Amino acid sequence: MNYKILKLLKDSGEDFVSGQKISEEFGVSRAAIWKHINIIKEAGYEIEAISRKGYRIISSPDILTFGEIKNFLTTKYIGKNIIHYESISSTNSKAKELAEMNEEHGTVIVSEEQTLGRGRLGRNWVSPKYKGIWMSIILRPNIITQNASLITLVGAAAVQRAIKKMGIETSIKWPNDIVIDSKKVCGILTEMSGEIDHINYLIMGIGINVNLEEEDIPIELKESATSLKLETGKYIDRKLLLANILNEFEDLYNDFVLNGNIKETIDICREKSILIGREIQLVNRGKVKIAKAVDISDKGELIIENDQGIIEHIVSGEVSIRGIYGYGK
Ligand code: ADP
Repeated sequence: MNYKILKLLKDSGEDFVSGQKISEEFGVSRAAIWKHINIIKEAGYEIEAISRKGYRIISSPDILTFGEIKNFLTTKYIGKNIIHYESISSTNSKAKELAEMNEEHGTVIVSEEQTLGRGRLGRNWVSPKYKGIWMSIILRPNIITQNASLITLVGAAAVQRAIKKMGIETSIKWPNDIVIDSKKVCGILTEMSGEIDHINYLIMGIGINVNLEEEDIPIELKESATSLKLETGKYIDRKLLLANILNEFEDLYNDFVLNGNIKETIDICREKSILIGREIQLVNRGKVKIAKAVDISDKGELIIENDQGIIEHIVSGEVSIRGIYGYGK
């Protein structure tokens, strides 16, 4: 009921909605409306109430609910179902749990904070409240298991484009990070459940440092992490950014999964690559190899020249990549 009243108020924009209209539409008493309005206010909405005119929304809270982003969404299935939490351990863990219970393709789990946000190989992901976009998308792609890692590149390309739409240039650190000036603003963690020849579901976790301040970034990450706000000096609209990501993602995902075309994704990853042409360190289970990143192949592999001058193709998997002089330098 609160949600329905909220929707009515939102749909009428700056116009007042009379108490009578609300009570007729939903069959509730004036006193009951007052109670619902108070609950909506407690959720952070500023509502003006004037006798004989009714109610209208003055301002909405900065939260990533479906109601708050739907006006920016142009997707057919990605994000049509958004499950929103104030706080959760990890959106990827929750998404997995829901996917096991058959939650539908395209469902997005968003939380305002993660208390146990995860990176690859059990590493942690810092996710302070209201400061970022911490989300996971449940996907059930009909592709061969070997191609699952390409979905990470689709995600990276979509995030790069979406951030660019907000007027901010970023680079892609193959395969799963978005960086500005070698510092990470976004990490992607794709997890899969499937067999050799069949994917049950994929969870694509995306964490974006949007409005984090200096004090939100732990000291040990100062060299390697930054936020969009710290880089631009501007407060960034998380709602619009989230919708942009989902819109861009659906386009590139359709291209790949429905039309078998990964070219646009690869083009973006190549054009925006921070690695190509650089000396890098490949870290695989504690072993470090020095190489030069040469290109990204049409199949999404990183092409490197190893220290013996031999060309190798790397499939993302478990490899972490570092610059020679630090995280991305
Ligand atoms: P890697 O970049 O080493 O391959 P992941 O992609 O798995 O690793 O990301 C996890 C790592 O990212 C953590 O070990 C930590 O160093 C770093 N990190 C954690 N939280 C954040 C954040 N909010 N922004 C940027 N980097 C982070």
